[in-house]
Amino acid sequence: MQIDVEGLREEKGSNMSIDMAEDFPSIDLIRSELVFVEPVRFVGQATNTGRRIVVTGIAYGRARATCDRCLSEFELPLESSILETYYRSDEAPDSPDEDEREYGEDNIVDIAPAIEQAFILLLPIRIVCDEECKGLCPQCGHNLNWGDCSCPPDESWGLFQRAKIIHKE
Ligand SMILES: [Zn+2]
Ligand SMILES: [Zn+2]
Repeated sequence: MQIDVEGLREEKGSNMSIDMAEDFPSIDLIRSELVFVEPVRFVGQATNTGRRIVVTGIAYGRARATCDRCLSEFELPLESSILETYYRSDEAPDSPDEDEREYGEDNIVDIAPAIEQAFILLLPIRIVCDEECKGLCPQCGHNLNWGDCSCPPDESWGLFQRAKIIHKE
């Protein structure tokens, strides 16, 4: 998702609105993968603040993910606000802020890495299709969201119940 900032660089204070949508590479989350099912859209603006280009706006995406509990695939809407500061590589400050990003002398700012990072930060540690997802039966693998299976109750749970009863007596 590239923005040509050449014209913007001419004058401090200039501003450019951005509304773009592009296919986005999938994000590898190690445990699973987010595959975008439609182009990611970015709506915002880029501003020349002097020696920096500041990009602000909102990124919208829709990705297919795998539920960590029941392993079914579902679509996850993603929406994140973006606030990124870019400097040109040949104008690098002596001590750049670690949040700042660099762009090349071709004056092309690629905002895709910032959007990818913003989407990753939105995600919980465990991605679930629904907070109430019941997951899979540990014995037969049946998806318990579709109803109960016919497995006998978990043996360890039964022992725990009996222990409680004995304790009461
Ligand atoms: Zn699930
Ligand atoms: Zn079962």
